[in-house]
Amino acid sequence: MNIPGHIKNSLLQTKLDDLIRHARDNEKKQTQYETFGFEIIDANTPTELRYLLLSQLKVRFQLQDVVLCLIDQHRDTARLFFDQDEKARTNYENRLRILDTAKDSRIIDTLDKVSLTGADVLEKCHWMIAGLNNKAPFKSAAYLPLMRRKRIIGALLLLSDDAKRYPQGIGTFFLQKLSAMTAVAIENCLNQQRLREISYQDVLTRVYNRRYFDLRLKDEIARSLRWKDDLVCMFLDVDYFKRINDTYGHQIGDDVLVRTASLIKMQVRACDIVARYGGEEFVVVLPATSLQSAHEIAERLRQSVHSNLYDFQGEQFRVSISIGMANLKNFCPSSPQDKPNCESIGTLLLARADAALYQAKESGRNQIAVFTNDDLKP
Ligand code: GH3
Ligand code: MG
Ligand code: MG
Repeated sequence: MNIPGHIKNSLLQTKLDDLIRHARDNEKKQTQYETFGFEIIDANTPTELRYLLLSQLKVRFQLQDVVLCLIDQHRDTARLFFDQDEKARTNYENRLRILDTAKDSRIIDTLDKVSLTGADVLEKCHWMIAGLNNKAPFKSAAYLPLMRRKRIIGALLLLSDDAKRYPQGIGTFFLQKLSAMTAVAIENCLNQQRLREISYQDVLTRVYNRRYFDLRLKDEIARSLRWKDDLVCMFLDVDYFKRINDTYGHQIGDDVLVRTASLIKMQVRACDIVARYGGEEFVVVLPATSLQSAHEIAERLRQSVHSNLYDFQGEQFRVSISIGMANLKNFCPSSPQDKPNCESIGTLLLARADAALYQAKESGRNQIAVFTNDDLKP
């Protein structure tokens, strides 16, 4: 059949318009994926990365949900990713799955055996979807394996309620790019966090060092004032520690410090901050804790240190600690100023806990003293 020239032209024009529209769509998509990719690579903290991957990705790409799973190669992923933020850990529980290399080995073996798109993605990834609270069923999904140096470190699952969103055979170039960028972003972020941890840790006792403590104390005070919570600061000092060094040697002295630090950590919650403040002095901050509960914790702590037996060439000995504590509400009663200076409040709180420690030492050691407003009276 002979098609008249002007119709041929118009058909060609429609085809060309389609091609141009398609190319523009792809360009837009590419920019969108690339912008997002660079943002995640730039993410400086786990909090930022979590927000981008688990909240922003969903919004910007109109997804129904997103699930990330990570293999916990060094048994530190949860700690690094949530940085002691228990609330975030609970909030993201079902959308950030951390796989144990021993317990989840069967799942881990399947991670590099799922295709990027197509009907079987939802079926093979049912374990990733299981805990989600989705209103409508997911109709299609894209599976992005996260690879670093040819090794799988996790996977990202993009879930849609549109069956046509990720069918088998669609172009996956953008998804592959996003997958590679996500893997780099996660590895970088966790490594940066590892470095931060090392620089914030006391080399001997592995609790936080003073530098980290000073930073965190300010933040915790700001948070406590915002939430109108109390916060307790404790100074703990090993009694007659010089004598331990002199009698048993420096190495045993070091062992006592390591053990004391671990006994302290055992008695407090993960959200409490334990730091070595100097030589044989530790400091503990207990956010959202009343003075009375803190006193009970301090008493348990004092007892656990004192009931621990050390052995030096068959000779057994004990050590004791003295504890001084002060609380925030005691001097920041109800309404703080508009812009409280958390740094100076922190300095004052520490000075008060230190003054209480001095009292505990003066009253015979192996005991707890609390700073009260009466201590301010001349
Ligand atoms: P008090 O009951 O009054 O606290 O007496 P103390 O002997 O514990 O206090 P003092 O300040 O007189 O002595 C603390 C000692 O701690 C002196 C110092 O040599 C020792 N020290 C500081 N850092 C370390 C360390 O990292 N390892 C060891 N083994 N000893 C340390
Ligand atoms: Mg001492
Ligand atoms: Mg001391």
